[in-house]
Amino acid sequence: MLPYATLSEAEVAIGRNLTAAETLWFNYTGKMPDLMVYCHTIAVLFCVYSLSPLPVVLIELKRLNPFDSHKIQPKVRLSFKEMFRCYKDVMFLFFCIVGPLQFISYPLFIKFVGIRMGLPLPSVWEVVAQLVVYFLIEDYTNYWLHRFLHVNRWGYENIHRVHHEYEAPIGYAAPYAHWVEILLLGVPTFLGPAMVPCHLITFWLWIALRQLEAIDTHKGYEFPWAITKLIPFYGGADHHDYHHYVGGQSHSNFASVFTYCDFIYGTDKGYRYQKKMQKKLKEGSYKKSD
Ligand SMILES: [Zn+2]
Ligand SMILES: [Zn+2]
Repeated sequence: MLPYATLSEAEVAIGRNLTAAETLWFNYTGKMPDLMVYCHTIAVLFCVYSLSPLPVVLIELKRLNPFDSHKIQPKVRLSFKEMFRCYKDVMFLFFCIVGPLQFISYPLFIKFVGIRMGLPLPSVWEVVAQLVVYFLIEDYTNYWLHRFLHVNRWGYENIHRVHHEYEAPIGYAAPYAHWVEILLLGVPTFLGPAMVPCHLITFWLWIALRQLEAIDTHKGYEFPWAITKLIPFYGGADHHDYHHYVGGQSHSNFASVFTYCDFIYGTDKGYRYQKKMQKKLKEGSYKKSD
């Protein structure tokens, strides 16, 4: 709940006129308890998870060309029923684990760390800088946690195996995992905002972008024109698809967002060898057809 009764009271306290976004924030959250404002996080997650994989799902189900020709593992096709089962299982986890987690994380994370909910809203530059830091922290921590779940036999068999049920992943399979893994990999997601506290809006943006990125890397298609190709060291769908393709024995491509951890620690050798071979085969077939 904001500590101002009226808009003009807020403007006097801040020392300037409110922007349009700040006025909207004031009107929406002004009289709302902080816990209720924070609970919108599950709605953000629900909307991004439910809606963003839909275009690629449509391409896959309808085999819409020219998009469908970019399927990474074209021999593996899931039916609508199989995709819906995945969606249903993830939604069950969201409501049973992530939903109740909000009530625990509110005092433990939001209040303790100092995530702001009031006015003024953060500037664009502050938001962008914090998001970059969060992605770097998440990627590095996730790399080691994910690698541990593969190296540790018990961890793989009892926890991480669930995520690897999809050898050719789809967008809806991005958060498909054992509930312990959901909690475990939540640590890298919360670590960035815990180290560099932000405004709740930045936190929502972070949750949305992290989910969008996970859906993008699991979508099973590598579009050469994708805007994400402009992001330096961005792994993308092809990089993570290889990790699922190799499966349980995989000791390759552990990173969630970027490629540099796998390169530095030498865990992308198999992937790079496969790419080299594919390139040679392609060049060979071109020469034959000349
Ligand atoms: Zn894995
Ligand atoms: Zn995955």
